[in-house]
Amino acid sequence: MDHEEFRQYGYQLVDWLVDYYDNLENRPVKPEVSPGDIKAQLPSSPPKKSEDIEQILSDFQKTIVPGLTHWQHPNFYAYFPANTSPPSILGDFLASGLGVLGMLWQTSPAATELEEVVMDWLRQMLGLPSHFHGVIQDNASTATLCALLTARETATDFKANAEGLKHPLTVYTSQEAHSSVEKGAKIAGFGKNNIRFIPTDEDYAMIPTKLKEAIWQDQSDGFIPACVVATVGTTSSTAVDPVHEIGQICQEHNIWYHVDAAFAGNAAILDEKQYLLDGVELANSCVVNPHKWLLTNFDCSAFYVSDPNKLVNTLSILPEYLKTNVDEEVKNYRDWGIQLGRGFRALKLWFVLRNYGQEGLQQILKNHIDMAQYFKAKVEAHSEFEVMAPAPVSLVCFRFNDGQHTNEELNQLNKDLLDMINQSGKAFLSHTVLDDSYVIRMAIGQRITELHHVEATWHLIQEKAKQLNI
Ligand SMILES: *Cc1c(COP(=O)(O)O)cnc(C)c1O
Repeated sequence: MDHEEFRQYGYQLVDWLVDYYDNLENRPVKPEVSPGDIKAQLPSSPPKKSEDIEQILSDFQKTIVPGLTHWQHPNFYAYFPANTSPPSILGDFLASGLGVLGMLWQTSPAATELEEVVMDWLRQMLGLPSHFHGVIQDNASTATLCALLTARETATDFKANAEGLKHPLTVYTSQEAHSSVEKGAKIAGFGKNNIRFIPTDEDYAMIPTKLKEAIWQDQSDGFIPACVVATVGTTSSTAVDPVHEIGQICQEHNIWYHVDAAFAGNAAILDEKQYLLDGVELANSCVVNPHKWLLTNFDCSAFYVSDPNKLVNTLSILPEYLKTNVDEEVKNYRDWGIQLGRGFRALKLWFVLRNYGQEGLQQILKNHIDMAQYFKAKVEAHSEFEVMAPAPVSLVCFRFNDGQHTNEELNQLNKDLLDMINQSGKAFLSHTVLDDSYVIRMAIGQRITELHHVEATWHLIQEKAKQLNI
């Protein structure tokens, strides 16, 4: 492809994306495909000769688009959102075109310094303390792994990196924590059996006294408590652990404290939601994902640490070929994470923060929260539905319950109900299990979702509930 063709197809693709967004709500949210359908339409061996972009684009429309789950669809309410936006796409496009890597300051000074600046802007927007220093990670799972590794080194006086683990270290998190905590603890060598899953209260938040008991027990059994991970907004139900109380326990016992606020932490850009992160000043590290809710396309996860030296001591490597003359004066972000090569993700976040402005982003998140609270009120007011967990931000957990069935029957009915809703193609919701109940999750956070979409989905849910085989 020569540069003139690149120009032509570049414009064409922007046109395509604009039409895609404008007509997105007419598409089914989830495709009608069976496993293997897409693969069957693609050649099994690579092309030997050059193929036209024209042909590739035509195959993209014919084969790929019908197999997409449309994450930016206004009626996508499953999991958590991973919303994107035009300024983010433009920033990401530029980053792709520039193709610069930011592992050392020298490999692109602007990439490193812009990352420092946007991470600090975001820190201020979230109300995080000024002693927090940020770095962009690919995702929250990686950020939490970095926190666990640093906790491991801190607890062993930076010896585990050299000698391996000589003594069992323990990790604490709630029963409702994201699976990335367990995965990270396994990768970091703590061992699954050394993770303590602390029980939660009736709102699915960690019970601090149970945490204390577990720490005491481990100490008297000869384990070394190394890390506590609290969650602000669990993935199941956006439960909020008592961040401050847990922080005090960590300080008392000198344990690394990581706060996973991947989704709900974004809401702290709103004054009225800043309480969600109360106590985070006691944390050693925390993670918030702009790529979930802050209009910045995947991947962009903001990882903050209170003492970057500990993180860098844990992860730094310095082979000869990476040494530079300015190492003493600059940040070399390769030492702040796991990957060496790293893209210029700060650019898209810069575009987003500037183009929306703090107020624009606040307006959008507030609107999502308002729509969720509207939906919650509708569910509460309906005699055959119930809300199943507190909804501090924009996720509502609910189920059908006509009062005529056992919990086990309700579980099957709600599973059927969710299948019917999703098979309609008109909306896509997901589920979780809270205590022993099957619960439907309605997570509102798309850029183009409006109240009428939420209303139509609520009608769809009621209509499908009437068709349940009861
Ligand atoms: C989504 C989520 C994660 C994982 O985020 P990734 O960026 O996909 O790794 C971790 N913790 C919580 C609470 C989440 O909601």
